[in-house]
Amino acid sequence: MINMDFKGFRYHKPLPNFYKTDNPLTPKREISDDLLLKLDNLAKKYNFTGISYSKLSDDFKKDFNIDFDNVIIFRFLMKNELIKMESSPEKSKLMDMEFQVYGIHIYEFADFLRENGFQADLLHPFDDDLSLKSIAMQSGDCIITRSNICLFKEGLHNGFFMIHTSIDNLPFKNENDMLWVKDFCSTCGVCIERCPNDAFDYEENLLRKFCTAHREGCSECILICPFFKRGYDKVKRRYDGMKK
Ligand code: SF4
Ligand code: SF4
Repeated sequence: MINMDFKGFRYHKPLPNFYKTDNPLTPKREISDDLLLKLDNLAKKYNFTGISYSKLSDDFKKDFNIDFDNVIIFRFLMKNELIKMESSPEKSKLMDMEFQVYGIHIYEFADFLRENGFQADLLHPFDDDLSLKSIAMQSGDCIITRSNICLFKEGLHNGFFMIHTSIDNLPFKNENDMLWVKDFCSTCGVCIERCPNDAFDYEENLLRKFCTAHREGCSECILICPFFKRGYDKVKRRYDGMKK
């Protein structure tokens, strides 16, 4: 059920406070497999595609004056039909609505953890000071493509929210089996060539002032990417074939 009082996540605005439970005074540090499974099921109930686990850097902990460095990432896929719509301010609004609808549920996930004795706080999804992509990369479940998008195996057109928590024994990964994507991207580059707004500089850095993804929902670099058109597994098979 959508809480209509929720005003949503906004750039340069504080995180909305929609928690129903306070953080415990003495947070627990270890979660059981059973409870983790319950969290996973809760996420699936709201159509999240999966959960990843990451760590914050020591610098991050110092800058933000926080004690815990554990992060839970809740992943979702934007609707295909939305991504395929022609760019317009209307499309951008629809994409934002979809993002906010997923975001509402993150408070429920945090409350679930708090009720079970853990500290759990959302990381602001639009905080310019937070490098959410690098935190996502730390999970070992994604890679940053040449088009500067976080690619998870289930799709390129994904979004995610993060909860920072006291739980130390999350199933963190030590390796990332998607590093090959960097090499594949180096042979492709179609996203850079076909960007309608020349939003990449000569070093292929994304220039946000030219990119219209947030203003008009431009998704051209997603639509033309092999990872969107064929899916991760097919591109991987093709890459492996090329390397034989
Ligand atoms: S279009 Fe090509 S270069 Fe760009 S992200 Fe996709 S695979 Fe990589
Ligand atoms: S979203 Fe559109 S404008 Fe932005 S980088 Fe991709 S293709 Fe270019």
